[in-house]
Amino acid sequence: MPGDLRAAVEALRRLAEESATAVTVMEVCGTHTVSAFRSGLRSVLPKSMRLISGPGCPVCVTDQGEIEAALSLLRRGVVVVAYGDMFKVPSASGSLASMRGEGHDVRTATSAMDALRVAEENPGREVVFLGVGFETTAPATATLVREARRKGIANLSVLSFHKRTPPAVEALAGAADVQISAFLLPGHVSVITGHEPFRFLADRFGLPAVIAGFDPEQILLAMVEIARQIRAGAPELRSVYGTAVRPEGNRKALGLLDEVFSVRDARWRGIGLIPDSGYGLRGDYGDFDAERRFSLVIVPGTPPAGCRCGDVLTGRITPPQCPLFRTACTPLSPVGPCMVSSEGTCGAYFRFHREERT
Ligand code: SF4
Repeated sequence: MPGDLRAAVEALRRLAEESATAVTVMEVCGTHTVSAFRSGLRSVLPKSMRLISGPGCPVCVTDQGEIEAALSLLRRGVVVVAYGDMFKVPSASGSLASMRGEGHDVRTATSAMDALRVAEENPGREVVFLGVGFETTAPATATLVREARRKGIANLSVLSFHKRTPPAVEALAGAADVQISAFLLPGHVSVITGHEPFRFLADRFGLPAVIAGFDPEQILLAMVEIARQIRAGAPELRSVYGTAVRPEGNRKALGLLDEVFSVRDARWRGIGLIPDSGYGLRGDYGDFDAERRFSLVIVPGTPPAGCRCGDVLTGRITPPQCPLFRTACTPLSPVGPCMVSSEGTCGAYFRFHREERT
């Protein structure tokens, strides 16, 4: 272990001993979850400090009803273009992958702009891009919509299930049955949003909140900062992500989001309907809104039987506490989205975590 990391681990241990308080830190982003596992960082944390995962995996938080809506479009002969992570997410009536196996037209996107190409190549077909993800991927969808308008593409629309991170974090910070001492906040989201949308954590909830990148060094630095704040009894919002996160965020991306999307309520797996936590297309861009074009009514879905993904996403349980973990539910045969996604907590526990089974 490099000397500066060893020094950080030592500092963390010292701070943890001095405060003598059990600390539960929610890492909001799935990439933090995977990085902390893969690097072995969890094993060097003081015993009094615990990392739990939050609702930061875009595939995982997409509600069952939203998946069903996408599948219903396929049954109507629409071409659906989606990021690869979405393909194996199961729902009551199948998945994008199983629908493709049945001959429906589902295309994999590596970027939102792939949907524009598919629409241009298939002028006689309706093409829908499945917009999922947080503030990080929503600007790419906004660019797609703007470009489709500029080019006069009439057969493309977007099913926007994009979500906003701060309202979900707020819902968890205020949840009486989830004990969270501090938040490890996602650097990439904060690059877009800036600091301010997360300041409420310290100001209103009295919780330390630290923005960090995804390297284990960054996570470790954030944990030291959290431990320091807890010991000092002085919670605040800090960033250890350096100059990448500006307090005001990325004005260009925020402007784009504001132009194309309006904020609306959104349904999150495991949390339910959260006010102002989603992005829908603005009225100005209503022609590109797949919900409107196809008169879709999205109803809350029922999670797969026995799957406790919602409890995992909200830190109420860890994956080994789900009875299906490693038995009925594995990456090859996933029951819920938390096992499907590369950023899913259950998938991360399956790959990296051996000893904890309770
Ligand atoms: S282990 Fe599988 S069934 Fe259990 S919560 Fe995770 S995804 Fe759902």
